[in-house]
Amino acid sequence: MNHDPDPHYNVAIIGAGPCGATAARYAAEDASTILIEKKKTIGVPVQCAGFLPKHDELEELMPDADLPDTFHYPASCVQTRTKYQRFIAPTGDSKEFDVDADVLDRKRFDQYLAEQAVSAGADLRIGTRVTAINGNTIEITGMWGSHTITADVIIGADGPHSIVAKAAGLPGVEDDPMGVAHAIAYDMTGVKIDNEAIEMHFGRNFVPGGYAWIVPHGKTSANIGMGIRKAMCEPGVTSRDYLHRFIEEHPIASEKLKDGKVTSIIAGIVPVGGAPAKTCTENIMIAGDAAGHLIATNGGGIPTAMVTGKIAGETAADTVNGKCTVNAYESRWRSEIGIQITTSVYVRKLMDSMMRSDPMMTAVMNMISPTHMKALQRGQLPDTVKRLLQGMQKRMG
Ligand SMILES: Cc1cc2nc3c(=O)[nH]c(=O)nc-3n(C[C@H](O)[C@H](O)[C@H](O)COP(=O)(O)OP(=O)(O)OC[C@H]3O[C@@H](n4cnc5c(N)ncnc54)[C@H](O)[C@@H]3O)c2cc1C
Repeated sequence: MNHDPDPHYNVAIIGAGPCGATAARYAAEDASTILIEKKKTIGVPVQCAGFLPKHDELEELMPDADLPDTFHYPASCVQTRTKYQRFIAPTGDSKEFDVDADVLDRKRFDQYLAEQAVSAGADLRIGTRVTAINGNTIEITGMWGSHTITADVIIGADGPHSIVAKAAGLPGVEDDPMGVAHAIAYDMTGVKIDNEAIEMHFGRNFVPGGYAWIVPHGKTSANIGMGIRKAMCEPGVTSRDYLHRFIEEHPIASEKLKDGKVTSIIAGIVPVGGAPAKTCTENIMIAGDAAGHLIATNGGGIPTAMVTGKIAGETAADTVNGKCTVNAYESRWRSEIGIQITTSVYVRKLMDSMMRSDPMMTAVMNMISPTHMKALQRGQLPDTVKRLLQGMQKRMG
């Protein structure tokens, strides 16, 4: 068994999350491709609640996108299926709307995506970290030793702390403090939850600048977490403190959660500031979390990471086959999902003003219909809601 990589590939992809594995699956169809992942086991540790709307919902979320075929994943990747999304205001008033969604076993899902990349012909290197990139040269080190390889085109699908973005001189997604949510979550068992609904709880005492979620994992298990903005937190109170406060003291949630036992701890950052103005150079593209490709209103990044991963992988193969240059990536991804990324950041900024006041947040949630709530959390902004939010934002000063 030879673990040495070839010295040269057409395409090198850094990071085997949903973005990188999807990029590799599409690049490998028409170009020699290596997929490099620092984790020794794909998908471990999990850094996700696993909420993924079903295919029909994704088509409505991203109507201009050509969805990767890997959205038709096997049932073994699914922990449970939910039917509703429920928003709970700071007062406890709630509204819900239909969302047909799976809750993924994210480890299994990431492994499935990597298997698809390998089946398409990609060379997969796990337990291997990219330490430096200079031009077309990539330095890698890990359990199979240290090597230098070269690639015609490099894709940075290496998450929010992207080394590839830095090496390419592209703006990082961590630069804006309000554009980064710090997420922490517990998998818990022994909780009493509604298995058909995912819940999103708002209120600045419990979740400053974000929301807390309860995502069912089936029977009496769930993922309970929150994403908060540090700039809106009380001094000295950590995200872990807020999560404990939510689980133990929230008037509605604590009734469901207080007897639960924690089975795993998940933490990570969620880039909610949108994509930088430039996401490629002449030989490098960044995609997924590395490029801020998330729906900023809910922090969901699996669908957008897979869509931009596919576009990056196809653009890389087209480039090496002389059909385009890497520059085509910028207009390709923006024409497929640019509007959703930009609008969701605009809505998030409007909502940031409301989140500073629980009465204001409650008033907004009372005034917006469930249909419009669904649109907002998808990163859409109906005109009537835009006027309402802009008016309230003016009142907030
Ligand atoms: C707590 C939490 C809960 C979330 N819940 C949801 C949810 O329910 N639904 C949803 O849609 N989104 C959710 N998200 C967001 C979602 O997880 C991300 O948007 C998604 O994983 C982005 O995929 P990606 O492939 O771009 O990046 P990642 O999944 O972060 O993958 C990047 C990969 O690159 C690898 N890597 C990094 N640096 C290097 C290097 N130097 N060398 C080699 N490999 C490297 C990493 O190990 C990693 O495997 C959540 C995020 C957090 C933090």
